[in-house]
Amino acid sequence: MLIVGAGPVGLTMALALERRGAPVRIIDRSATPTATSKALVLWPRTLELLDIEGCVDRFVRAGIRGTGARLRSDRGELAQLTFAGLDSPFPFPLLIPQSETERILGEVLEDRGVAVERETTLAGFTAHADGVHVTLETADGAVETASARWLLGCDGAHSTVRHGLGVEFSGTTLDTDFILADVHLEGDLPADEMSIVLAPDGVVALFPIVGGRFRVVAEVGEPTGGEGPTLDAVQRLLDRRVPVALRAHELVWASNFRINERKIDAYRYGRVFMAGDAAHIHSPAGGQGMNTGMQDAFNLAWRLAMVERGVAGDGLLDGYSTERSAVGDRVLRNAAAMTRMTGVRNRGLQRLRNAIVRMAGGRAGFRRRLVEQLSEIDIAYRESPLSIRAPGRAPGVNPGDRVRDLDVALDDGTPATLHAALGDGRFLLLSVGCDALEVPADLRALAHAARADGAGRLAPGFVYLIRPDAYLAMSTRPDRVQDLLAALSSLTAGAR
Ligand SMILES: Cc1cc2nc3c(=O)[nH]c(=O)nc-3n(C[C@H](O)[C@H](O)[C@H](O)COP(=O)(O)OP(=O)(O)OC[C@H]3O[C@@H](n4cnc5c(N)ncnc54)[C@H](O)[C@@H]3O)c2cc1C
Repeated sequence: MLIVGAGPVGLTMALALERRGAPVRIIDRSATPTATSKALVLWPRTLELLDIEGCVDRFVRAGIRGTGARLRSDRGELAQLTFAGLDSPFPFPLLIPQSETERILGEVLEDRGVAVERETTLAGFTAHADGVHVTLETADGAVETASARWLLGCDGAHSTVRHGLGVEFSGTTLDTDFILADVHLEGDLPADEMSIVLAPDGVVALFPIVGGRFRVVAEVGEPTGGEGPTLDAVQRLLDRRVPVALRAHELVWASNFRINERKIDAYRYGRVFMAGDAAHIHSPAGGQGMNTGMQDAFNLAWRLAMVERGVAGDGLLDGYSTERSAVGDRVLRNAAAMTRMTGVRNRGLQRLRNAIVRMAGGRAGFRRRLVEQLSEIDIAYRESPLSIRAPGRAPGVNPGDRVRDLDVALDDGTPATLHAALGDGRFLLLSVGCDALEVPADLRALAHAARADGAGRLAPGFVYLIRPDAYLAMSTRPDRVQDLLAALSSLTAGAR
């Protein structure tokens, strides 16, 4: 299995595959990991998935638990979002620079015996029915040809894998420029809250990083050129747009960028897969890019590990593209809507927008839905072939919905959490408020059993088949468990 790219997505892919016993090789053309902050937030759903991987604590220790976000116009507060009360074991956005996220992912991977092969570039490849031949180049000019059973393109927006396949990255580039600057800020600004100001001449967003540092992102309209704003330019922008006195000093990193909204249609091409920025790029509004890519990796890794272990057939892999492409479409739509909403220039339309935002922000239901969307805990795969609406199914959680972490007892009576029980990469047959069932010997490589008493939204008196990434595949009454085992058994069709 060859992973191309050791950004956050490739590292996550390697981690999740290795944990499930699939041997991986991971290469990156750069000599060192990224030193820049780039994506600043790990959202609750990504933290939940890192919990299943058994390493979330290291991230939580290194970041700041954000409280939420505040939206202002030049005339005062429009809305406040808080994550407290979110139905997750991680009810907070974790504010952590991408460089830290990559450092920790790399360390966990190294602890598990996998090192990134740096200064190694994928130069070309040819895919066949049963594998991929690759040409790799190292910094000293050496050329290596190798074979891999699978090629995983986690190689970012300019993906060599995507170009090699000739797949169209369809979409547009917006014709407005943004600036980005990491600076130290002094002034009345909370160090655990994101602030967004819808100023008349453009939006500016302020994200706490660590140690008094903040990310300033602003739409500036006309092309700025050069390497990004100077400290003076950042100060002038803050003075003009932010209704709170702030003093910027120590410019740590500055850049300017244009927004691309692009995506590929299918994420699988035979033995070749793509994930992360190789498959989708969009506006940073909503901060979903890196998280979406990491969740692509979690979604693919458990399937691929099962197929590689010979416990499931190739058909299990197709759901990756269906499920994650639909999520990618949604993320692009939402980010585009937010970008256009914040980019309104006409004063009359700005007043109307601000009135709508203030009204919507006053509604608890709207705020809750927005927080669940940003958190990505509302992602569901209801249309997936793996989500089976069987007769006798439980009320409440639908097939395809996320199952929140809960306390369970494993089949030998050991207490555990759902996330810990899923960590070995198998499905979980969870009996809630009824006797635990036994998984037949021929399906034990695919699933194991546990039971739970009170279980949040899971109604008692039913059996639930939970996927390794904590989404519900199917539920039924205990007397119909044969239906559920038949569905599980169908996954083994074509296993090698
Ligand atoms: C300035 C900036 C600010 C951003 N801010 C945010 C934000 O606030 N929120 C957010 O969610 N996202 C943000 N992003 C986006 C976020 O950084 C990306 O979504 C994320 O890095 C994607 O991860 P990835 O692993 O898919 O790709 P990348 O991080 O791009 O990693 C790809 C890796 O592949 C390697 N590679 C490429 N080609 C080859 C090859 N042929 N052979 C070997 N290796 C190769 C590269 O060296 C690189 O290490 C920002 C991005 C930028 C540039």
